[in-house]
Amino acid sequence: MSTRLTTDQIERYSRQIMVPDIGGKGQIHLRQARVLVIGAGGLGSPAAFYLAAAGVGTLGIVDPDRVELSNLQRQILHATADIGRHKVESAKTKLNDLNPDVEIDIFAVRFEEDNAAEIAAGFDFIVDGSDNFDTKFLVNDVAIRLDIAFSHAGIVRLQGQTMTVLPRKTACYRCLFQAPPPPEEILNCQQSGILGAVAGTLGTIQATEAVKYLAGFEEGLLTDRLLTYDAKAMKFHSVEVTRDPQCAACGDKQAAER
Ligand SMILES: [Zn+2]
Repeated sequence: MSTRLTTDQIERYSRQIMVPDIGGKGQIHLRQARVLVIGAGGLGSPAAFYLAAAGVGTLGIVDPDRVELSNLQRQILHATADIGRHKVESAKTKLNDLNPDVEIDIFAVRFEEDNAAEIAAGFDFIVDGSDNFDTKFLVNDVAIRLDIAFSHAGIVRLQGQTMTVLPRKTACYRCLFQAPPPPEEILNCQQSGILGAVAGTLGTIQATEAVKYLAGFEEGLLTDRLLTYDAKAMKFHSVEVTRDPQCAACGDKQAAER
């Protein structure tokens, strides 16, 4: 892909090129970058919109589902007329309407053990916008195996949490939580609801982290910190976390076995 920006691109991205930390060089890095968004839902919608707007060269979108009426309260990539359409196709239309410069690769499948490595290979960053623990652990493990930086996020009701992971350099999702919670707790989570704007806040933070990583400023990334958001009290809190050398995904034993 070209290492020069066209006149149109310079105008389109002028307000972020003006940001000293990004500049023309950062913009070219974004243009050459490939980001995989897992899930075209509440988190994936704002993340993908901002990444497309920012001029990320290629966006991969993975989602097996079709748009339902109850999605529209938070999954802002999709409109009323999209009900029944594959979410990845609806997403591709919206993202290319916003920015035809961005190549959108769609995968209308569930991100599973069987296909995860094949889908994720070749991407520079992963935004995990999945809505279940099994997928979150799978994204974590595959990203570490393939050495791809990623952003984790989870949301429920009026709360969210997020963290960025640089494989084997910073704490991973499994360093913190080891394994998915028992099924009875998961069921409670899925029934508990979510405010759309809370998903928007967390997905937007994930897009910010992706842009920062791709534009080359690693120092300020949300690594070794779990950021929690309580929308009811309107409070952000960050908890320091450390990498576990015994971690089943990123521990030293796993590194030695590679
Ligand atoms: Zn770990």
